[in-house]
Amino acid sequence: MNHLKKVDIEIYEAIKQELQRQRDSLELIASENFPSLAVMEAQGSVLGNKYAEGYPGRRFYGGCQYMDVVESLAIERAKLLFHAEYANVQPHSGTQANMAVYFAVLKPGDTIMGMHLSHGGHLSHGHPTSFSGKYYKVVPINVTKTTQVIDYREVARLAKKYKPKLIVAGSSSYSRIIDWEKFRMICDEVNAFLLADVAHYAGLIAAGLYPSPVPYADFVTFTTHKTMRGPRGAIILCKKKYGPIIDKMVFPGMQGGPMMHTIAAKAVALKEAMSEKFKLYQANVLSNARALASCLARKGYKIVSGGTDCHMFLVDLRPQKLTGEQAEKILESANITVNKNSIPYDPQPPAVTSGIRIGTPAITTRGMKEPQMAIIADLIDRLLKSRGDKKVVSYVKSKVKMLLTQFPLYSELKY
Ligand SMILES: *Cc1c(COP(=O)(O)O)cnc(C)c1O
Repeated sequence: MNHLKKVDIEIYEAIKQELQRQRDSLELIASENFPSLAVMEAQGSVLGNKYAEGYPGRRFYGGCQYMDVVESLAIERAKLLFHAEYANVQPHSGTQANMAVYFAVLKPGDTIMGMHLSHGGHLSHGHPTSFSGKYYKVVPINVTKTTQVIDYREVARLAKKYKPKLIVAGSSSYSRIIDWEKFRMICDEVNAFLLADVAHYAGLIAAGLYPSPVPYADFVTFTTHKTMRGPRGAIILCKKKYGPIIDKMVFPGMQGGPMMHTIAAKAVALKEAMSEKFKLYQANVLSNARALASCLARKGYKIVSGGTDCHMFLVDLRPQKLTGEQAEKILESANITVNKNSIPYDPQPPAVTSGIRIGTPAITTRGMKEPQMAIIADLIDRLLKSRGDKKVVSYVKSKVKMLLTQFPLYSELKY
């Protein structure tokens, strides 16, 4: 970063400090991860200089021969890894991937069904503040009050009553297996499209550790920067017959030129995801999440739905008489990063919440395993019990530091 340092010391310093922050904090945010240096090299490459509107073999600009190589590799790898018939690798983000699917098959005013935000859904699944809640009539799916899992009979009942044109199944905080086949059957009964949004689960699915929606869903969208451990962005998979309408909607329907540097980085991440090393990584992500959830449960914490089948889980902090907001702050004071998160039927507003979401992708990338999960559960418990007592905070902070130095991050980067 010698050039940046000379040209713009302010930005250089901010990047340097952010690297240090990432190194010095215990990152438990379920949607974050640390991609490889290979992914980051591709992302910072000259490919970002090139306009390549269109698709491989049919571009609106000259000089796209290497762009075609890059994008074709990304497409082929995505299809191969997920056993999909068709892939579009251009969406700039997960929200835009969902938008492309909605715009391709829905008209404003159509009815969609998706999980409610506080029951695991994403803003782009029909929240009133999102375009998805403004353009479409939304029938939210709630989990049950008692078991906190999806009640497929209730989903079927709602579908029959409201006849949605599309059901989006997928979540940002649902820690259990989603039964894609059941969603397919419900969609078939009411003639609805099924969109599976696996932004969170994609890496586990690629490794065969979480059921794949690809055989069942008309469309599958996922972000590449969460468990997939690639660059920020997203991919749409679909049945071959929908390929043309998806391509047309992504470009020119709602995006301009593709970010070719990001597409190259997606291709690299997809290649990495085909390795045995990646499978082992995902297995560790899963066993770490299960270990951390059960260590916390043993200390009296209430895990929403009682456990996890993926890389994350929610903790209901009402028994501890803490809000999500308070817990997030207390943990942050000792360099443990989580996010406050609404729990199903949360009595608190979204800015406060009664829960926190905990995920293991990032700490597993650093190399942590089950023995470290027991330590982390202990540190979280001490901190929360102390309500942020200064002495406890400084004790935990030093323990976090010791733990992190054993699992260095980006040690080759020398800024
Ligand atoms: C993260 C997420 C998205 C959107 O990702 P962005 O890239 O931030 O737009 C979409 N759906 C789900 C379920 C997510 O968790």
